[in-house]
Amino acid sequence: MRALSAFELLSAWERGLSQTPVERALGLLGAACDDEPPEGLAALSVGERDTRLLTLREWTFGRQLTSVARCPGCGEQLEISLSAADLRAGPAGARGAPAAASESLTLKAGEYEVKFRLPNSLDLAALAARAPAASVEEAAASLLERCLIGARRGGEAVGASELPPEVAEAIAVRMAEADPQAEVELALNCPACGEGWQAPFDIESFFWDEIGTWARRVLGEVHVLASSYGWRESDILNMSARRRQFYIDLIGA
Ligand SMILES: [Zn+2]
Repeated sequence: MRALSAFELLSAWERGLSQTPVERALGLLGAACDDEPPEGLAALSVGERDTRLLTLREWTFGRQLTSVARCPGCGEQLEISLSAADLRAGPAGARGAPAAASESLTLKAGEYEVKFRLPNSLDLAALAARAPAASVEEAAASLLERCLIGARRGGEAVGASELPPEVAEAIAVRMAEADPQAEVELALNCPACGEGWQAPFDIESFFWDEIGTWARRVLGEVHVLASSYGWRESDILNMSARRRQFYIDLIGA
């Protein structure tokens, strides 16, 4: 994986405007990992994909991330500042080595023995396409069905729908342990009222919003510089942000 140029990032943003979140995530990684086949990227576990997105975000906009959240207790708007390292799941020693999505996991629960794999982007895309308004339970059941490789009860083969809720729950827990970056929760605390709560953090939507803000600003810079100097878009995008700003300041002077 490598960092994206301004031109490549702008192209990914333009394509992404008409794409789903899963397609956007894979589009960004596809541009940054141009030595890997797209099927391989789509088959990465969700946590492995998000680990790469976080790294790409760090290379693009730096280590610090700023977000806002509203306190569920008093409604206060909080500004949250995080470092990319805060968002990397697991202890330092475990980082960078999540289970590959193609690797199968096994679990024994009572008389059940199940073999399954970790959810990947294809699973998320299928879920979103099949039932956009599905309940959390329906989505979990359909994810389990896709990720189940095989299940036996006392030696007899059983299907995903025949697994009792406690076995399905144990599988979900094992999946989360094996792929900790797939679901990142922030522990937040309100300085105004002391309320503490957990908020999910989704690197795809966070990074996408930032790219949108950046793209609109850069297109504005291209417009100003092209109007004044007659330079080509590609030449302006090839300049560093600092150099673009230098010329814009000169125009204003
Ligand atoms: Zn509060």
